[in-house]
Amino acid sequence: MHSDPDCIFCKIVAGEIPCCTILETDDALAFLDVGPIAPGHLLLIPKTHTETLDQLDSSAMAATARLLPRLAAAVKTATGCEGLNIVQNNGAIAGQVVPHVHFHLIPRTSGDAFAIPWPAGTYPEGEMDTIAGAIRSHL
Ligand code: AMP
Ligand code: ZN
Repeated sequence: MHSDPDCIFCKIVAGEIPCCTILETDDALAFLDVGPIAPGHLLLIPKTHTETLDQLDSSAMAATARLLPRLAAAVKTATGCEGLNIVQNNGAIAGQVVPHVHFHLIPRTSGDAFAIPWPAGTYPEGEMDTIAGAIRSHL
């Protein structure tokens, strides 16, 4: 288990900063986000310190992500929301402010103020194969 003494989420895991715990296992912790987009907005984190998802050990990921269905169901029932967004920001460019991997569970209700811009494009001829090949070559 890695820990970064300067990381706010590692301090929460260590009990040095309080949080409103929802669920805790040996490997993961879910707690209320203090700046909720909607009441019941949760954060789910692996306890081990890893900045971004691409660096996360797959077993730590598995131990964390396995809690998502149960948490999502509990948030949905408890808040009465109609749906949820699971948001996972990686890197400042993607809106990540706290550099410790975390999943947002954001309750959604019709007419709420949250919207993720989704500027879908299209691929010019041949570019799907090019990018797909490049990604496969790095797996
Ligand atoms: P992100 O922009 O994806 O890095 O989101 C970081 C989230 O962490 C924000 O939604 C903050 O409101 C939340 N946050 C920051 N500090 C705390 C804290 N001490 N307890 C709970 N949530 C926090
Ligand atoms: Zn950390």
